Amino acid sequence: MIRTSSIQTPRPRAWNLLNLPWLGPFLRWRYARPAMQSVMLLVAALLLFDGFLGPQLAYKNIATVSAWVHYRGFLMLALLVFGNFFCMVCPFMLPRKGAKWLQARLHLARGWPTWLPQKGIAIVLLVLFFWSYEAFNLWKSPWLTAWVALGYFGAAFLTDLFFKGAAFCKHICPVGQFNMLYSTISPTEIAVVEMDICESCVTKDCIAGRDGIPGCELHLFQPKKVGNLDCTFCLDCVHACPYDNVGILSRVPGAELLSTARRSGIGRLSERFDIAFLILVLSFGAFMQAFGMIPPVYELEAWLAARLGLRTEAPVLALIFVVGLIVLPLALVSGTAWLSQRGGRGMESLKETIARFAPGMVPIGAGMWAAHYAFHFFSGALALIPVLQSFIEETIGADLLGKPRWDLAGLLTLNQILVVESFFLYAGLLGSLLLSWLIAAQVYRTQRRTLLGWLPWATLFLLMLGTGMWIMLNPMEMRGTICF
Ligand code: SF4
Ligand code: SF4
Repeated sequence: MIRTSSIQTPRPRAWNLLNLPWLGPFLRWRYARPAMQSVMLLVAALLLFDGFLGPQLAYKNIATVSAWVHYRGFLMLALLVFGNFFCMVCPFMLPRKGAKWLQARLHLARGWPTWLPQKGIAIVLLVLFFWSYEAFNLWKSPWLTAWVALGYFGAAFLTDLFFKGAAFCKHICPVGQFNMLYSTISPTEIAVVEMDICESCVTKDCIAGRDGIPGCELHLFQPKKVGNLDCTFCLDCVHACPYDNVGILSRVPGAELLSTARRSGIGRLSERFDIAFLILVLSFGAFMQAFGMIPPVYELEAWLAARLGLRTEAPVLALIFVVGLIVLPLALVSGTAWLSQRGGRGMESLKETIARFAPGMVPIGAGMWAAHYAFHFFSGALALIPVLQSFIEETIGADLLGKPRWDLAGLLTLNQILVVESFFLYAGLLGSLLLSWLIAAQVYRTQRRTLLGWLPWATLFLLMLGTGMWIMLNPMEMRGTICF
């Protein structure tokens, strides 16, 4: 039996989404997730069909427009206003039922190798994705976009065939890492409703499972779970708990990033340098992805190619992305952590200081992602209408949805979009300044040491804001849409 002696302290009463009429009963229904995943599977099938067989023009194809304009925009929106909705409805996880069935019959199950950093493969895949998105112009190619989606299905199936639990979600999926990290600033979390009930619970079905419902396959034991890290919102714990004691609860966005508690399935954040590094790669990735779409990157590429005598773009981009995603973040953050330690007279090692303060970077990273995706979404949201009109016309041979309106594209003007982008960037800055201040207060204790230990981080975040605004003020490529 699992002991609950170090159960967390009770939280203030929160608002539970599962108590809402209609939505609550639906989400409590055992097959709610497969139902939502099935809808998304149909969307994925449409994407694959058009991506492989449809017109190979980005602005005319469902694969490129839906994946690079709409999916990313809605994903960020869902994280900011709800939680990890896109892991909840993820269609890549549907075929894994088959993988688990085969795994049990063929006795293939094995644990994740302990010598591998838990987020190591995901970080490598994220860096590869950021580079390949530019090097192979994924946004421009319906065919390659469809291959990426198909590859995802295959990778998820194979990983879950050979490894126990939800190894693909926890250790490999780059989109999942993005969702799980940025859901730390979401306004809801999957959590225990009444700690008292857990204290007296003997079966612990939320982790052990019952009646064919798996317990948490990401190894998050509800009474000791903190926040949304590593949580896919799969609802298994909601369905497995015999006391209906797990809910989707409201909470203060980002507050979990301050928690120093040992987290179930994760450990202490201050001891997880791989998670700190994931935060760095995703935060700087936000800036690098946007930087890859503005004119100065082409000037930099041309200059580097001339200096290094390179004729193809891929190695030049590889150099830019390795520096921008690994070398520069490590150098900047190490310098900042060193200055912070000196100012705050902290006793922690440099690595511990980085791991302690890295969560403070989550809001500004999220702000930059939101600003970037807002640009593509608001400049191309309506492009899906003519794409669907054209798809129906070409597939069925009749214009059931009317003649394609290729003049439709943006929802807002470029000036209005700039206001939205600035809002997200400044909101991210404020979040990071506040979080890092509170972290500094935990680490350095006295007010003077807190201020001196916080100033280097505040300077870094202001630099990031300046870089973000500079990027957004540059003309950005319209991707997946026609530019009139
Ligand atoms: S099964 Fe329910 S009551 Fe028991 S420990 Fe898990 S969440 Fe608490
Ligand atoms: S805690 Fe585990 S079982 Fe519950 S929603 Fe999150 S990932 Fe799923």
